[in-house]
Amino acid sequence: MCRKPPGCLADSVKLLAAMTDTFNIRIEKTNHSKLAETDLNNPVFGKVYSDHMFVAEYHGGEWQDVRIVPYGDIKISPANTTLHYASTIFEGLKAYRGVNGETLIFRPQTNARRMMKSAERMCMPPVPEELFMQGITELIRLDKGWIPDKAGTSLYIRPFQIAMDPYIGIRPSDTYSFYIITGPVGAYYSEPVRVKIETHYTRAAAGGTGFAKTGGNYAGALYPALQAARQGYHQLIWTDGKTHEFVEESGTMNLMFVIDDTLVTAPTGDTILAGITRDSILQIARDKGMKVEERPIRVTEIIDAIKKGTLQEAFGAGTAATIAQIKTIGHDGTDYDLPAVESRIHSQGFLDTLNRIKSGELADPHGWIYKV
Ligand SMILES: *Cc1c(COP(=O)(O)O)cnc(C)c1O
Repeated sequence: MCRKPPGCLADSVKLLAAMTDTFNIRIEKTNHSKLAETDLNNPVFGKVYSDHMFVAEYHGGEWQDVRIVPYGDIKISPANTTLHYASTIFEGLKAYRGVNGETLIFRPQTNARRMMKSAERMCMPPVPEELFMQGITELIRLDKGWIPDKAGTSLYIRPFQIAMDPYIGIRPSDTYSFYIITGPVGAYYSEPVRVKIETHYTRAAAGGTGFAKTGGNYAGALYPALQAARQGYHQLIWTDGKTHEFVEESGTMNLMFVIDDTLVTAPTGDTILAGITRDSILQIARDKGMKVEERPIRVTEIIDAIKKGTLQEAFGAGTAATIAQIKTIGHDGTDYDLPAVESRIHSQGFLDTLNRIKSGELADPHGWIYKV
């Protein structure tokens, strides 16, 4: 149970109702813009950050001191509870330069709502959707010059919330900070990936935190991923923690397969993160009249389909990579090569449609595009 009411469901609903008004954002601009010295169109993923960051602080039961300041280090107590117990959640989304030069963001309200779900599970006070949206909007307006325009590039947006109490006892914090940082990014994977079906280690278990974008899920995945990397794989395919018989997701991407012209993916639940890319691809597939199945997928079904030649496509879906084609699946010491990436008309179609909606080139029937 949460000791502090705002992190708990009933109270967080009350809190949200009380906080639908707009926030006053104080803006302190940098005197040392790094924009001129940055090669925007060849960014290394996650290494370059824009000039400013958004900050809001939670104390006394309220989000306050809302501001945009020059990007820079933050000061933290050595006893900070997040450093010890991973009281941290995050989001990831992207801003694009539209075909008409406008700044477009893909489904940011969905990220705002997902972060509130992560907050609830981690006993943190939710960041109201209004604060999340206002923060992103004002920050991107100020740093819009940082959005690259080469095909495949975008401005990555990383909102995150951390507990701030300088207290090493284990309990929900009284104080939190919410930040948004951004940085130009290019393609996440430059080539189709080799993945290994993991049947020993577990990422998420029923009743656990797998559905939340919270730090510990990722730190705990590093060791198994390193073992796989030593065997020559880029990524893992996680299986269910109980039997290891069902494929779940890939750690930062949801997994999708095309088998017999049907798009198949595992259902989201408490062990699989509800990816926005996943949801968008399912919708696009349905719009195109393709058969779609969200259901548990056995490892043996995938291996059998590869052997029979009915598995046509396999890919990861997530904001960072959008679609990461899988070229090889390793299972139980055997590597299975999948059909050539050039033959994958379905996923290439999804990618093309998604990219064109994101750039404003295609109609946006589901209201996914937010104009800054
Ligand atoms: C972020 C993430 C995804 C992908 O979600 P998107 O909203 O599509 O970016 C999938 N799985 C995990 C574990 C993630 O953290």
